[in-house]
Amino acid sequence: MKKPLLGLSLEELAAELAELSLPKYRVKQLAEWLYQKQALRFDEMTSLPKKLREQLDEMYDITAVEEVDRLYSADGKTSKFLLRIADGILVETVLMRQPYGNSICVSTQAGCSMGCAFCASGLHGLIRNLTPGEMFSEVAYVLRHLRADGEGLHSMVLMGSGEPLLNYENVMAFLRLLHADYSIHLSYRSITLSTSGIVPNIKRLAGEGIPITLSISLHAPTMEQRTELMPVNRTFPIEEVVEAGRAYGRDTGRRVTYEYILIAGFNDREKDAEQLAKLLSGQLAGVNLIPVNPVAEKNWKRPTRQAVDAFQRALERRHITATVRREMGADIAAACGQLRNKHIEK
Ligand code: SAH
Ligand code: SF4
Repeated sequence: MKKPLLGLSLEELAAELAELSLPKYRVKQLAEWLYQKQALRFDEMTSLPKKLREQLDEMYDITAVEEVDRLYSADGKTSKFLLRIADGILVETVLMRQPYGNSICVSTQAGCSMGCAFCASGLHGLIRNLTPGEMFSEVAYVLRHLRADGEGLHSMVLMGSGEPLLNYENVMAFLRLLHADYSIHLSYRSITLSTSGIVPNIKRLAGEGIPITLSISLHAPTMEQRTELMPVNRTFPIEEVVEAGRAYGRDTGRRVTYEYILIAGFNDREKDAEQLAKLLSGQLAGVNLIPVNPVAEKNWKRPTRQAVDAFQRALERRHITATVRREMGADIAAACGQLRNKHIEK
């Protein structure tokens, strides 16, 4: 088996290739081929000597992904790719063309161990963590796709399958890779990490010096309601999660977003808005309301548009900024994990 190179930082590449005694600029060129130009094969790396390309090819692999399926939303703005990586596992990556630019939604784990009641990603449990190289290969796949259309990437969200803060080291290495000058130099401010609320790692993240936007999946305003949706609430209770969010905002100066799925009659009532506003008061935060996508196993209903607007107004009356995610590509099951499940079940 050849060793994978994708995912190694410039320093790690230099260490890995020490035996070849390459000059520094050669290693930098290699890194640029891997990350800036997303080369798929060593023989594309024309600025490297042919002999070196052949040596690299004998020893290493460039973790590439293979497309298994692709869906477009009816409006054509959202594309969802089902990708097969190294050992045959499947991940979903979504490209969203938005008015302000193209955004990519990346998976950080194959499956998820958190078991949230509304989420398709957790249905089959966790398979394994993705490596920095595998996460980069999701981005590389979409970048090559965009480049063919003469387009670029504006931002990234870690909102595909998986809990990014339970794959902490790999996710940090991946973010540093995206930001590096030999890579695509994506600004940290255009990256959003979404978490179900792994409190110790939210605290750790605040100290990384990586000023990304933190998004916390709250989804309910009380202990009891949140536990019903998210088992993780037993380990990291809602109050502690919100406290960690408050500290993150304070320490980084970045506004924290709270994701809140609206389920008719369950968490979309006036008293839920009141409770939520109380919980978040005085915090540099915004709420993102997401009318729930239908889940086959549950008979949850999406609230009507009027109910969603009323909930938003109820928050704003209490000085909490709230936006509604008029969800992208619900018609292609962009709620992550659903396409993957279809294939697993086959
Ligand atoms: N594990 C992390 C990140 C991935 S989930 C987290 O939970 O935050 C990304 C987002 O997809 C979450 O905010 C979740 O609320 C949303 N999501 C999952 N299933 C959904 C559904 N059925 N309807 C609407 N949003 C859903
Ligand atoms: Fe995992 Fe997030 Fe889905 Fe919960 S919502 S099961 S944490 S991917």
